[in-house]
Amino acid sequence: MRVTFEDGGGGGGERRDAAPEPSARPLGRAIGRGVRGHCPTCGTGRLFAGYLAVAPACDICGERFSGHRADDLPPYLTILVVGHVVVSGLLIGERLYQPDVTLALAFWLPVTVVLTLALLRPIKGGVVALQWALRLHGFAAAGAQGREPPSPTRFDPPPPAADSRPSPSAPSRPPQSPE
Ligand SMILES: [Zn+2]
Repeated sequence: MRVTFEDGGGGGGERRDAAPEPSARPLGRAIGRGVRGHCPTCGTGRLFAGYLAVAPACDICGERFSGHRADDLPPYLTILVVGHVVVSGLLIGERLYQPDVTLALAFWLPVTVVLTLALLRPIKGGVVALQWALRLHGFAAAGAQGREPPSPTRFDPPPPAADSRPSPSAPSRPPQSPE
């Protein structure tokens, strides 16, 4: 008895897209570099030009950071972390030692300030690196093109270039609506 197996001829063939594969951007590595204030691309250049000001581009590899939109997320995350630490510490200290209010304030106010200043920058670096790794906002076109597009004006919506079909007879509004 002879059993023959027919080869499927590569049924699970690989599909090849016409577009080139964008370079991989490992999320954890990028965030780790951003938290340390380093460029998420090369890990060597500086991400920040000041305490919180993001540099326009990496001084080593030239990756542009102007497309980031960290906005309010770093302060929000910082408040989230510091608030949990300080408030829970205050409550635990109050429960255990019932310290004088002045003493509690003298301890927890500096702790709050120091913790906030220490966390804000690493968290912002992590957020910018996260946006870079996920190709969000101004980092979106960088993977396909290999470089950044000209940065749009901050807080302005992106121009409708990709979807610029002529609108069918847009109703013309009078310049002044009667109210
Ligand atoms: Zn770099």
